[in-house]
Amino acid sequence: MKPIHVLYLSVLFLSLNLASQAQHLDPTETKLVQAVDSQQQQAIDFLRQLVEINSGTKNLEGVRTVGKTLMPHFEALGFKVRWVPMDQVQRAGTLVAEHPCPEGDGKCGKRVLLIGHMDTVFEKESPFQHFKMIDDHIASGPGTDDMKGGLVVMLTALQALKSAVVLDHADVKVVLSGDEEAAGHPLDIARRDMIEGAKNSDAGLEFEATARVNGVFYGSTARRGSITWRVEATGQTGHSSGVFGPEMGYGAIYELARILDTFRTQLPEQYLTYNVGLVLGGTTAQVNAQETGGDATGKPNIVAPSAIAIGDIRCISSEQVERVEKKMRDIVAGHVAKTDAKINFYEAYPAQSPNQENRALLKLLNQVNSSLGQPEMPELDPMKRGAGDSAFIAQYIPTLAGTGSSGSGDHSAAEKIDLSSIPINSKRAALLIYRLTKLPEGGKLSEQVR
Ligand SMILES: [Zn+2]
Repeated sequence: MKPIHVLYLSVLFLSLNLASQAQHLDPTETKLVQAVDSQQQQAIDFLRQLVEINSGTKNLEGVRTVGKTLMPHFEALGFKVRWVPMDQVQRAGTLVAEHPCPEGDGKCGKRVLLIGHMDTVFEKESPFQHFKMIDDHIASGPGTDDMKGGLVVMLTALQALKSAVVLDHADVKVVLSGDEEAAGHPLDIARRDMIEGAKNSDAGLEFEATARVNGVFYGSTARRGSITWRVEATGQTGHSSGVFGPEMGYGAIYELARILDTFRTQLPEQYLTYNVGLVLGGTTAQVNAQETGGDATGKPNIVAPSAIAIGDIRCISSEQVERVEKKMRDIVAGHVAKTDAKINFYEAYPAQSPNQENRALLKLLNQVNSSLGQPEMPELDPMKRGAGDSAFIAQYIPTLAGTGSSGSGDHSAAEKIDLSSIPINSKRAALLIYRLTKLPEGGKLSEQVR
């Protein structure tokens, strides 16, 4: 076939594809797509502005400055915005923006909750502080992908919805935490506004990074939760020549070793991981207040009376949490001679379990993808996503985690964002929210998404 014919055919094919694509977009959706495309440079400029504000979780003033920078943007879209202080949990605060249905409750279809966070893992002392263009579509910087890029995707989608007059017929709430990277405790206070928002909504989108593996975008319907635990073992102490004897027994360190190795061999199950992050043992053993290390003293000829280990477990559901915690307690209870031990579990980040309602929301998103001429987004393996705030709202409403920007190197100085992910993910979010407003409020999404 002559090259000119190949060219004709590919142009023909392309225009047919674009035409069929356009066919799948109703006039409002076409406007949404155009509105997003018209904001690309503005979006990058706003991202640079946000990234240049240090907002490490413990930099409370920095997080508040991000909040103050975001608030006028939500107000300009007709949201009622308020800042909820979180002094009670020693954190910066939560941004809440509400846009109730202008036509009255229940008249705007699904009530949509959008969540995210304003903080990053990079504190003021971090050497990684600035936004930098690497090339025309990659930028690096603290929080570019986790998740200031996601905040930009959320606002770009909302601005498109405003300009296409969709927001005027929509019930949308936004809740942004200031401490996702190091949550304040108790969590029922730190996440109160998010949970409250979920109780008064019908579907939730979390704007953490949209997972992309080998160029394929994924939809996240589930993620595991995380719980920290601590085992403290005790035993007799004295001259080491008596170890294993009827008087002295095995000592605390052998007891701890027994426990950890039994965890290793007896706990494995699907979706479960259980890490041991720190072990201390000896004549004395002390973990520091931040649980980031500690001190231990001891001598080879003295049986150790004290041993401590701390770690986490990550589960896919609260049922799995209950089952595993019971198994761990039972293992801890089976002491070697002349020793004792106890295990404590601490406040947890819940799991977002896979369910048909979350899958129905992904199905609706994939209908949007098909209309946009984008490939289907497969379901991301829950093992591939760390714990996160979406789990708090997923207990109440169908929820997708990770609908924000895409990039790489999160939580490291190699963090980068693919700027071309902002428009495509903004279009997905804008069309998904629009289509949710066209579905009846209440009822099961899995029965409404055809
Ligand atoms: Zn994050």
